[in-house]
Amino acid sequence: MGETISEKTEGRVSYHDSVEEMLPRIREDGMSNAFDRYAQQEKIRCKFCLQGLSCQLCTNGPCRISEKSGQDKGVCGIGGDAMAMRNMLLRNIMGAGTYSHHAYEAFRTLRETAQGKTPFKITDANKLKWMCDTVGIDSKQDVNKMAGEIADHLDVDIPQLPIAVTAPEWMEQKATIDGFFAAAYGAYTRLSPIPFVTGAPGLVKLLTEDVEGLTGGKIALGDDPAEAANNIEAHIISKRKGLGLREAD
Ligand code: SF4
Repeated sequence: MGETISEKTEGRVSYHDSVEEMLPRIREDGMSNAFDRYAQQEKIRCKFCLQGLSCQLCTNGPCRISEKSGQDKGVCGIGGDAMAMRNMLLRNIMGAGTYSHHAYEAFRTLRETAQGKTPFKITDANKLKWMCDTVGIDSKQDVNKMAGEIADHLDVDIPQLPIAVTAPEWMEQKATIDGFFAAAYGAYTRLSPIPFVTGAPGLVKLLTEDVEGLTGGKIALGDDPAEAANNIEAHIISKRKGLGLREAD
């Protein structure tokens, strides 16, 4: 397959010659593909979705914003700007989530390669040195040792990360569910006010005591914002220390 990247897009679906070569063969074989599916969707694509003004995050929806016809807010009261921004933010989070999976695969492969357990070889030692210098790993040592150390450095589980989730004034069921998801994901999660689960002692125990041993996540409660901010800061500082990161400015 060709390696050249063409600047000419007219009549093409991609800048890449490899894609141009692949597409007719896929069509010949009668297989569905993203380019043709995209063109098909053009005919029925929703104009609200294109503007970010459509939401189906909770069961009060789906909602759409149409200022022209007077629907300037979703059922929950969210306006157009916030809805579009939230949609974009969620897409970014989804993208970052899926790419972080790729990153995990990449550095695990790097570690195995350093141990001679894959058919690959490290060919760009300078790039590896640059990465090591950036994160404070000795870049004067053997290439495979460097690769192993950087893979170990990056192999951090969610509960070790200096992150916290907070829903300071959840007003709808969705925020509680998001909060429980964050705890299950392994994050320190602050909710206020106390969710409506106190009548279920088993669930309260699971969320306040057992979850940390199961997922590494933690639910923090309390309505005082200053205390919550201090607790979140203390959590982040202790996780940064655990990872050997320097103090944040
Ligand atoms: S009520 Fe709010 S969160 Fe629920 S679907 Fe409508 S806009 Fe989205």
